[in-house]
Amino acid sequence: MYWEKYAHHTIKEKVTKALRQNLDYRDRDVLGLPATFLDPKVFYSDAPFLKDAPYMQTMVANPNHIGCHTLTEAEPAFSGTHAIERDLIKICACEIFKSKEGEYDGYVASGGTEANIEAMWILRNYFRKERGAKPGEIALVYSQDSHYSMPKGANLLSLHSIVVPVAEETRQIQPEALKEAVQEAKEEGFKYFILVMNMSTTMFGSVDDIGTATSCLDALEVEYRVHVDGAYGGFIYPFACKEEHPYTFENPKIVSFSLDAHKLVQSPYGTGIFLARKGMIEYALTEEAQYVKGKDYTLVGSRSGANAVAVWMILRTYGSEGWVAKTADLIERTDRLCMSLDERSIPYYRHPKMNIVAIKGSAVPQEIVQQFMLVPDTHEGKPSWVKIVVMEHVTQGKLDKFLFALDGVSR
Ligand SMILES: *Cc1c(COP(=O)(O)O)cnc(C)c1O
Repeated sequence: MYWEKYAHHTIKEKVTKALRQNLDYRDRDVLGLPATFLDPKVFYSDAPFLKDAPYMQTMVANPNHIGCHTLTEAEPAFSGTHAIERDLIKICACEIFKSKEGEYDGYVASGGTEANIEAMWILRNYFRKERGAKPGEIALVYSQDSHYSMPKGANLLSLHSIVVPVAEETRQIQPEALKEAVQEAKEEGFKYFILVMNMSTTMFGSVDDIGTATSCLDALEVEYRVHVDGAYGGFIYPFACKEEHPYTFENPKIVSFSLDAHKLVQSPYGTGIFLARKGMIEYALTEEAQYVKGKDYTLVGSRSGANAVAVWMILRTYGSEGWVAKTADLIERTDRLCMSLDERSIPYYRHPKMNIVAIKGSAVPQEIVQQFMLVPDTHEGKPSWVKIVVMEHVTQGKLDKFLFALDGVSR
């Protein structure tokens, strides 16, 4: 895994150059595009700070990244920043998830929700088109700890949901329960399965055992494809894993990944990332998108080029080595928190490659949950678990303060 780190002046130069390559509504006689720069009364482009702020400059220039730029020739008006998005997608697909050069497609989606729904949409259409699947033959399989975008997507796409229970302490999918549920669905007439694997759940940071889950489905001899929800873990788990792990494009069972840069990467909201194997995103083609040059393969339609620039700037500012160091720091702080909980015999769940600690609700008094804004697994009734997410703002000092509060020491 390697991508180069760029100094601020290099980033500035590249973004400025990209914006110059983009169409400038001020210079050219643009009469047809239903797009323009941001309102100049409010967002004046001669504000002096803009000179040194490439992201803000991009926002003001307001390029539209509609469509999928790894795939087709898109609107030439924004080719400069489209190339930046392509570089970002390449870093994610090739360096983080080990795709071979040119064997992926992807785009910056509005978030993990959209990326997950795009994945389900593609696979649903794949089964319809390639297998003639009828309504009532495709099911979406995911664990009880999965994000709510799964039921949301299943509802939108008329997919049958199979929610598989997890073990209370390990948060792992129960193979017997998975087999039983899929077998039952098979008997009911379901023939095609979209299996969602969590490369970290939101509440626990648990990572589904993809090998176990796929061998359950293999044993039942049903046809399935795998989508990986890395919206939470995508920018930390692959970096924390020093040894080989099964969550890459080298795993032939995986079709697509979702990532969220607006969580751990600390980029602005609107920066989900969708990645798929080459040849799959075509199943989300909307032929009727005639006015869009290159047509549309995404769920969202118009989207801001500034979002792609923001994520690209962050990943390029760190470089792969800087990103490994940054995530290692989060993991270390999480390790230390867990040791402190161990010393106090406070029960919790934590995946060793993740920065989430879910503490048993009964071990943390309600005032402390509220004081430190721990997130409960449910807002209805007493929570079974309350979680801490060790992000950049969750400093050692704040964690110490939490531990002191637990000890009943007031400071
Ligand atoms: C946050 C999250 C999502 C949804 O992401 P949004 O960016 O809020 O749409 C999906 N899956 C997981 C695991 C998440 O943590």
